[in-house]
Amino acid sequence: MSQLVELRRDGNVAVIVIENPPVNALSNAIRRGLIDAFERVKSDAAVEAAVIACAGRTFIAGADINEFGKPPQRPITNDVIETIEGLGKPVVAALHGTTFGGGLEIALGCHFRIAAQGTRLGQPEIKLGIIPGAGGTQRLPRLVGIEKGLTMVVTGDPIGAKEALSLGLIDELFDGESIPAGVAFARKVVAEKRPLRLTRDRNEKIDAFKASGIKYEDLAAKYVKRGRVLDATAAAIEAVRHVIELPVDEGLKREREGFLGLVGGDQARAQRHIFFAEREAAKVPDLAGVKGREVKNAAVIGAGTMGGGIAMSFANAGVPVTLVEVTQDALSRGLGTIAKNYQGNVARGSLKPEEAERRIGLIKGETDFGAVAGADLVIEAVFEEMEIKNKVFGDLDRLTKSDAVLATNTSYLDVDAIAHATKRPQAVVGMHFFSPANVMRLLEVVRGKDTSPDALATAISIGRKIGKVPVVVGVCHGFVGNRMHRLRSIEAERLLLEGALPTDVDAAMTEFGFPMGPFAASDLAGLDISWRMRKAQGARAEIADALCEMQRFGQKSKRGFYLYEEGSRTPKPDPEVEQLIVETSARLGMARRNIVAKEIVERILFPMVNEGSRILDEKIAQRPGDIDVIWVYGYGFPIWRGGPMHYADTCGLAYVCERLRSFAATTGDQRHKPAPLLERLAGEASGFASLAEKAN
Ligand code: NAD
Repeated sequence: MSQLVELRRDGNVAVIVIENPPVNALSNAIRRGLIDAFERVKSDAAVEAAVIACAGRTFIAGADINEFGKPPQRPITNDVIETIEGLGKPVVAALHGTTFGGGLEIALGCHFRIAAQGTRLGQPEIKLGIIPGAGGTQRLPRLVGIEKGLTMVVTGDPIGAKEALSLGLIDELFDGESIPAGVAFARKVVAEKRPLRLTRDRNEKIDAFKASGIKYEDLAAKYVKRGRVLDATAAAIEAVRHVIELPVDEGLKREREGFLGLVGGDQARAQRHIFFAEREAAKVPDLAGVKGREVKNAAVIGAGTMGGGIAMSFANAGVPVTLVEVTQDALSRGLGTIAKNYQGNVARGSLKPEEAERRIGLIKGETDFGAVAGADLVIEAVFEEMEIKNKVFGDLDRLTKSDAVLATNTSYLDVDAIAHATKRPQAVVGMHFFSPANVMRLLEVVRGKDTSPDALATAISIGRKIGKVPVVVGVCHGFVGNRMHRLRSIEAERLLLEGALPTDVDAAMTEFGFPMGPFAASDLAGLDISWRMRKAQGARAEIADALCEMQRFGQKSKRGFYLYEEGSRTPKPDPEVEQLIVETSARLGMARRNIVAKEIVERILFPMVNEGSRILDEKIAQRPGDIDVIWVYGYGFPIWRGGPMHYADTCGLAYVCERLRSFAATTGDQRHKPAPLLERLAGEASGFASLAEKAN
């Protein structure tokens, strides 16, 4: 008997309790322990019913991540469920916390399910590029219906206990502890001699679906985006179709085959890589044991695009925040935008009106800089100009508490220089949010040369608290994300001069999996920002600069690389821009040629990977996985491709080097020459993943 699974007796009810902190993950030892316990229940004639419950903060929250991607070891979850289904005595699953993945599958295998108020139930496997492998796709729709079952399996989004009750996923809600509630329910089942019905045998909802006349294809069509379906989505749609079309045993068998097929596939591998990389990204070796300070009050300087979004992120997490502006006008504008954003959430039904009010109430506007005095953390988000930032940090130095952490949201400026505008550079750290800051999850935490472990740890821990994915990076122009992004812009523009049109480049990149191509994305962000920056640096981008000179700033002026009709955000190709491109190629003496999608993707991504290698060599990023997390969470890199560095590994680094050498020859750009780290790994027939393995 495993120590992780305890079997007790409470009169005629057997109580099986799992204790595998912190989340009662369904490890091999737990599965074995459960089978042992149920076998003893079976042979004990005095036991008339059993309860399965968990100690600690949750019922089984899912698989054991240490087993992710490894060959399954018997007994597998299906073996546990078969044991329960063959028991011949009622089994009640008493749920609380997050009943996810294998946890929900076990519960579905029981005869009855009851849940504590606040329990969340879901099959999130799709988020790791797989489908449930122990009956989730077959049993869940039998209880909640085909349409809801499909939604839950395809989106991976959980539902709450109340909804679970109304759908028929659980039989009863309870308040308080799960074990006594489970025992009481089991006694009721025995006393009332309730019939033992296995989920697998329940067909009412399948029959109802068949009678409804709804076409399964129409339900599934919602999950096909721009004609593309990911492997796991396709498998999930197929599996739920089997619920309607196949006998349950056949459906279960096909589900298992589908699951095993996906687990070893490229997409699931990429998603597992990001899952683990995200967990690693905020870990800093020399920070071990430093916890970071609690932030009870925050302040944000500047209520513009970023400051407003940052303030919302704090309010969303329940942290009071003071928003400071120079003028009452600017402040009112900023607060107005915040209120409008929250009203939008309410109108869409994603936020209750009283919750929106509560959050708005946590944001206090001020034009008096002295209002920062009580803040534990101040984040500066004023104009991107060194002089202004220096002045702000000088003021913060005078006006904040001596132990406050002072953060800058600068995109490109030198955090070390900003830190030295204060007499406490150790308190200064970069917190680089992404736009829109209340939505985007990436947070580059920039460690300056003087940043103290305490300030760094505080930025990381508050970043997590407000729902961001913090990644620690070092100081350089553009840090990790924007430094690599710059190369993407240069290459995209160069492709235009060599023969591609904006639609060719954007189509190649969306086909690769980005939600938007680089030109549509530039139009959305506004072309004027990078134009101003290039001018300041004496740099030039032939096409983008010409567009700005024509007052074409992107969506905001209805014209940029594309045309936008009134009230529409859909980019339309513009013959005027195409003519400009063709004429510019001719003026520069560049022969235009046909460039295929594969070359476009490689021309855009491989130089970024090359820059990523330099970033690793310079220790601006700690690990290749950190770069991947930055690109997935900050720039829409398709998660199922695993980020640029992982993707390069899948292409083979020798191939990446060979292509870069050829780009260097065609463009004459020496930056395309493979970076030393890339060259070395390619020479060893190795990959970036080997660096991560060495670090662990
Ligand atoms: P913005 O122009 O929208 O807002 C800046 C705000 O700061 C304005 O409302 C202005 O009135 C206010 N301000 C200026 N000086 C001030 C002072 N001394 N005290 C208080 N408020 C002052 O700019 P933004 O896009 O929000 O950018 C702010 C910072 O965030 C910049 O450093 C920028 O590089 C960085 N950033 C921007 C983005 C983005 O996509 N916009 C993304 C990441 C980081």
